[in-house]
Amino acid sequence: MTRTTRQWQAADAAHHLHPFTDFKSLAERGSRIIVRGDNIYLWDSEGHRILDGMSGLWCVNVGYGRKELVQAATHQLETLPFYNSFFQTTTQPAIELAELLAEVTPPQFNHVFFSGSGSEGNDTVVRLVRRYWDLMGQPERQIIISRHNAYHGSTMAGASLGGMWGMHEQGGLPIPGIAHIEQPFWFDHGQGYTRDEFGLMAARWLEDKIQALGPDKVAAFIGEPVQGAGGVIVPPATYWPEVQRICDRHGILLVSDEVICGFGRTGNWFGCETFGFRPDLMTFAKGVTSGYIPLGGVMVGERIARVMIDQGGEFQHGYTYSGHPVGCAVGIANIRLLQREGIVERVRDELGPHLAWHFGELADHPLVGEVQTCGMMGALHLVRDKATDERFPSRHEVGMVCRAHCFANGLVMRAVGDRMIVAPPLVMTIDQLDEMGALIRRCLDLTLGDLQGRGWL
Ligand SMILES: *Cc1c(COP(=O)(O)O)cnc(C)c1O
Repeated sequence: MTRTTRQWQAADAAHHLHPFTDFKSLAERGSRIIVRGDNIYLWDSEGHRILDGMSGLWCVNVGYGRKELVQAATHQLETLPFYNSFFQTTTQPAIELAELLAEVTPPQFNHVFFSGSGSEGNDTVVRLVRRYWDLMGQPERQIIISRHNAYHGSTMAGASLGGMWGMHEQGGLPIPGIAHIEQPFWFDHGQGYTRDEFGLMAARWLEDKIQALGPDKVAAFIGEPVQGAGGVIVPPATYWPEVQRICDRHGILLVSDEVICGFGRTGNWFGCETFGFRPDLMTFAKGVTSGYIPLGGVMVGERIARVMIDQGGEFQHGYTYSGHPVGCAVGIANIRLLQREGIVERVRDELGPHLAWHFGELADHPLVGEVQTCGMMGALHLVRDKATDERFPSRHEVGMVCRAHCFANGLVMRAVGDRMIVAPPLVMTIDQLDEMGALIRRCLDLTLGDLQGRGWL
């Protein structure tokens, strides 16, 4: 730590290509260097304290500096830092975490396939879905339907399942056998309908797509219960139950990508419980270890697991770090912590409603067009004219203007276009939530003044 911030930034720009980053502009401006975390706060190399409204990257759900997780990792590193789970071997932490996951996930899930991340988990989903239909004697069921503006990771399969056109353009994606429908985003696509009407409409886009492709060609539908990276887009209550009915009617597998929604974020253990559907596969990562160490995986429902186990034959798929013992040890400690402290119930009964109250108050701010929350996630859509919901021209990058004011005032808030989002740690106190609410209002006011000064309003 003897280097100055500028020296760290120069070394960073000289050697490190960052994910989802414009390398040229990063080199010009220098990155912000985070040096320490405690509870819900971060400190940068200049000594600024920042309230982490995004839980790192939607993952540090139990906050920074939890000794229980550090001790679990240390103990496992000392005992057995690595062994694999290929070829009929395994480790105790992998067994125990599998058992614990079967306990906390919905009843149809008794098996898990481990990966190192959410993206890898979704690669595994593609492999599992295709293997299942092969074993069922329906190999022509190949197509997985997803949605525009979905995020399912950044590997070739993950990015293909995702609906981010920018990612597709740079990778020659999607890979074959993946189709997309429009997202259930009322504020963009549903005005003129009630939210419930729109939810049914958006679900029926799935029916239309299935009919267009041929029901016997469609293998699965995948979605995030709430789209996270797409901008915390909370679907109408009518959406998921209708999607479930459509999948059931055609025998299509239903996949819930719970990488963000899992482990308490929405106020239940899993997002599918909050929205009332029953997936056959469930991807997880991020919150399973609260981000302390990489780990991901796929919960495999009885419908699929039974066929794969009973029919036999090797599943030709796996990762060196599938079931990594240190990752699993941290996962166990993290889940025990969530259980012991009743964190999921607190999100449901106290924190989620309080965040919703704060966002409700922010809805009257002149810049705010739409407000949505779900558990400990929230979105504020910035608009130019509140009366008509007129948006700002995208070239103004108003979300980035607001985000800069947030950082300058000690708050991490993410901008997805002009939609400002938060997903703070699940261990906040009510006072800390109030502190965040006040910070958000101050930053919105500063943004308003800034935009007026630029003549953009
Ligand atoms: C973050 C994320 C992923 C990808 O996880 P990685 O660990 O970054 O590979 C997949 N799906 C969703 C919904 C995510 O938010």
